[in-house]
Amino acid sequence: MLWLTIAVAAAHTLVGFGGHAINLLIRDWASSLVYVLAALIVALRAARVRESRGPWIVMAVGVSLYGLGNLLWALWLEHVPSPPIPSVCDGLWLALYPASYVGLVWLARTGHRRVPAGVWLDGIVAGLGIGAVCAAIVFRPVLHTASGGGLAVATNLAYPVGDLLLAALVMGVFALRGWRPDRRWALLGAGFLVLCIADSIYLLKVASGAFDSSSVANLFYMSGVGLLAVAAWQRPAPVERPNLHGWSMLLVPGAFITTAIVLLAFDHAHPLTPLARALALMTLAAGFLRAGLSFRDLRTLTTAQREALTDDLTSLANRRQLVRRLEQAVIVAHDTRSAAALLVIDLDHFKEINDTLGHPAGDELLRQIGPRLLAVLRDGDTLARLGGDEFAIVLGAPSDRLAALKVADNVRGALTEAFNVADVRLMITASIGIALLPEHGDSADELLRMADVAMYEAKHAHTGRELYSARRDNHSLERLTLIGDLEHALAADAIAVHFQPLAEAATGAIVGVEALVRWHHPVAGAIAPDDFVTLAEHAGLGRALTTRVLGLALDQCRDWQAAGHALDVSVNVTVADLLDSDFPDDVTAALEARGVSPHALIIEITERSIFSDPIRITAVLDDLRARGIRLALDDFGTGYSSLTHLRTLPVSEVKIDRSFVAKMTTDRADAAIVATTIELAHALDMTVVGEGVENDETWQLLADAGCDFIQGYALASPLPAASLTALLERSALLPTA
Ligand code: C2E
Ligand code: CA
Ligand code: CA
Repeated sequence: MLWLTIAVAAAHTLVGFGGHAINLLIRDWASSLVYVLAALIVALRAARVRESRGPWIVMAVGVSLYGLGNLLWALWLEHVPSPPIPSVCDGLWLALYPASYVGLVWLARTGHRRVPAGVWLDGIVAGLGIGAVCAAIVFRPVLHTASGGGLAVATNLAYPVGDLLLAALVMGVFALRGWRPDRRWALLGAGFLVLCIADSIYLLKVASGAFDSSSVANLFYMSGVGLLAVAAWQRPAPVERPNLHGWSMLLVPGAFITTAIVLLAFDHAHPLTPLARALALMTLAAGFLRAGLSFRDLRTLTTAQREALTDDLTSLANRRQLVRRLEQAVIVAHDTRSAAALLVIDLDHFKEINDTLGHPAGDELLRQIGPRLLAVLRDGDTLARLGGDEFAIVLGAPSDRLAALKVADNVRGALTEAFNVADVRLMITASIGIALLPEHGDSADELLRMADVAMYEAKHAHTGRELYSARRDNHSLERLTLIGDLEHALAADAIAVHFQPLAEAATGAIVGVEALVRWHHPVAGAIAPDDFVTLAEHAGLGRALTTRVLGLALDQCRDWQAAGHALDVSVNVTVADLLDSDFPDDVTAALEARGVSPHALIIEITERSIFSDPIRITAVLDDLRARGIRLALDDFGTGYSSLTHLRTLPVSEVKIDRSFVAKMTTDRADAAIVATTIELAHALDMTVVGEGVENDETWQLLADAGCDFIQGYALASPLPAASLTALLERSALLPTA
């Protein structure tokens, strides 16, 4: 009905049908009808809808007063010969402005707890700026021609200025909402803009002396108010966080500062009205204030953003940013049906470096790693530090399994060159876990967990890099229950020891045995030591395990000695033992309890374990040696130390790792390494054991190279004590070779 009335009025204005009576009817009553209807529509909205009821009540009051003014005019003032300006009607019409202002501000605030000062300043800057332009261009003729004194001019000007202020306010709200499209606010803005056009047309008409209220201006008035009524019934767009990012924040003040400067420059050549000049100056001042605020906000915002997304220590992306990138990669991979990959990189033995050289050195190492890794990445890849010594790389699509493995190798390659930290040359290695998307998962959390599982796998298997595998993941879940079972087994004496003999390389005479732990799990069956020894160490069961094995080994050693077999016994220990300064006392007590000489015991250590805390561990080792217990360096060749490092260790025996020994017959380089190691060890007064001797040919090569002892399947596998006793008895009958 509202728009029907407007349409009829529009048709009338454009076509001009009907006689004088119709003219009057439409001129005087169509607009009043529209305003009353609009007031009713807004009031109905306020009554019926709970959401933002307050603002719309205020708006309804404003529109009602506006309509009342119009009615009064049509009924009464219009028929007064020369109505006063301002009149009662002006008061009622102008009441729309404060009411709308309150309503709009209230409406804008709902949902925003605190509207930033800058946003209100935007409205003020825009209002002042537009006011200055209008004062300079539009109001100039008005001010010149308007009669009836200052109050009349001010009243006439109040309308367009009020409209503009409201339109500017709506613009400010748009700025506050990050310029997101919103029908409600668009209609409100359009309404006030249309009203402003109406008032301007009216003013120009008044200025030119051709006053006619049935003109096009009237149509604009009706449409403007009509738009406000329609706006009342629009569903609100969801309130989002105020968008305060980016340079768009500076756009509004920038545009109006420029305008004001242009006006003032113009003023220099053609003097403006004092009002225009004053408004331009005020725009400039408010604009600069606003720009200053924007800069401040922008600065705090960008710093906050940067800090929130980068790692303090390395300036690389942090976990949060990595997760974001990963989420994006998931979407891209999904959309393009291609693969992407996540690599989780963990430095090996970083804790030891940190403990030995100190935290500043550890930090320095972490800082040096970033550039090395970045050098092997492509543009679209993201490198992040997840925390501690853990890094991660997101390889953007397309990055398949092969690409991911290649990057992993490149990363490991990039780390092989020594790092120079605190004047120490550090060689480091890393373990890398890889998860592929979408193959392995399609959520950031899931992928991170999987890459982590794969990384641990790589670390424990010493393979350097591993792809995630669901099968092994289940396995790692099993580990948790295994820890409990192992604890139980140790307490219940369900741990056994097998013995593998060591023989003189040259003669084959058995001179000693290595005690190797065995665990027969009630459900899972025999579990390999490699699978549970590290587990025990991680679970803090290392000491208990060694105590158990040492006890069993020495019991057996005593029994064999009693039976006439003078055998040395070797026992493997864990890092926890070597870090415990009570360990030598415990060993001595175990020896004395069984009457076994300390000279019969050999403790096997690895370079890896020494590295975890060289000073403390060397003290424990020295203590053991002082008690007459021998030390053997196990798995030689797989750790860090070069041959020269050997000199500094208090060991009397070196066990060459089976990975070298096994390939002696086929790989000349490995054969050379073994031969050199034997020579050097001898030069340092150490004996040498070749481990993992699986065939006679290898045995022969070792014997030829001067190796002292051999151990391996070629001689015998690890055996239960009884089987080994039988073997000893058999070999005692044989003549030595
Ligand atoms: P390790 O100290 O190097 O022990 C030698 C390993 O090589 C044993 O594996 C043995 O069965 C295996 N082996 C012996 N001869 C041959 C051969 O000719 N060829 C091949 N391929 N392998 C051979 P096992 O018993 O599975 O033990 C694995 C590792 O678990 C040990 O390596 C040691 O590091 C650890 N471990 C075993 N028992 C204990 C223990 O009581 N305490 C501690 N802390 N670690 C233990
Ligand atoms: Ca060993
Ligand atoms: Ca070994």
